Amino acid sequence: MATSARKQKRARTPSVPLSVYTGRCARCALARSCEACVATLRCAACTESARCGSCRVKLSVLRAGGVQLSCRGAGGRGSLQLPMLEAGGCLDLPRSRAGLNELYRLIATTTRDIWLASGGRWMYSPASEQLHVEVLFAKDQYETPAHIWRYAVEQFKLDHDANASSLNAVLPSYGTRDTPRHPEGARIWLNPAYGDRCTSIGATLEKYVWKQGCAVVALLPALTHSTWWHTFVMRAESVHFLTEKVHFLNPLLDAVPSDYMFPLVLVVWEPAPPIGIAVFKSLALPRAGVSDPGQLLRVRRCCVCSKFRVLPRHQAEPPGERFTCGDLADPRFASCASRVQVWLWG
Ligand SMILES: [Zn+2]
Ligand SMILES: [Zn+2]
Ligand SMILES: [Zn+2]
Repeated sequence: MATSARKQKRARTPSVPLSVYTGRCARCALARSCEACVATLRCAACTESARCGSCRVKLSVLRAGGVQLSCRGAGGRGSLQLPMLEAGGCLDLPRSRAGLNELYRLIATTTRDIWLASGGRWMYSPASEQLHVEVLFAKDQYETPAHIWRYAVEQFKLDHDANASSLNAVLPSYGTRDTPRHPEGARIWLNPAYGDRCTSIGATLEKYVWKQGCAVVALLPALTHSTWWHTFVMRAESVHFLTEKVHFLNPLLDAVPSDYMFPLVLVVWEPAPPIGIAVFKSLALPRAGVSDPGQLLRVRRCCVCSKFRVLPRHQAEPPGERFTCGDLADPRFASCASRVQVWLWG
């Protein structure tokens, strides 16, 4: 029964001449694996139509209006997927692995420099002139929910996000692990900080606050039995106890199943030494909803160049009917000539 159903389906596909690929492309020697069947190599550039040599899946060879329709990353084994986002269009995806997969599936319809390999892993061409690839580590990518950083940024007049990435930065000015630059006298958001051990909070405070005159606001676990709490938190300007636990996001993981195990505090260190003991307060913030823009991977497609872009978490929806690259808040990518950002799993 299943066999005859498959036969019927095949019979409906348009009758185009098919060639079979069982090795490297003879003309350009480009080798690219079919994700359904790694043993077989294919080239989409030198043919208009082909099937995988062993599994007979029809490969990424149809072209329509400059868009390459691909079996890469499709839901079913080898099924062709149509592009789901027209130029100028918007698509809000979850900030999870599934969301990034969907984004890369879209990007892969426009460039051959990224493709889904076996095991669900995205591969890219290091020589690509179209992509700007950043390799990130999941343990560094736990994202503070929007209701917390939004409150902190406004309440404490923050202007720089330390320990961030271009994927999770909550302010236009941010530093990464590799480029920890910050403006002089910055008011710094620090999260994700250091986990429950907070081993380097002392060195960080010394560097930013006591040597360079910056302010630091950090989201930390309320571990009043730990040494660092008494050494550093008790020297803070103010400590704000969140009345609810926090559910972090992580775009590099399938899902973060539950709230972080410890209760959390926002701790504020000002560059001037505190007068007297720290101020302790309760802080009740309504949780950000699933449709909060800061909780979504907001994919926008430029209506001029058709590139796929992701709005930074802190950026408000750009005004205007149709999105163009120039609307992006990050100046490095705010032009059609700039590369498409891709964040891959390290
Ligand atoms: Zn070829
Ligand atoms: Zn195959
Ligand atoms: Zn553009």
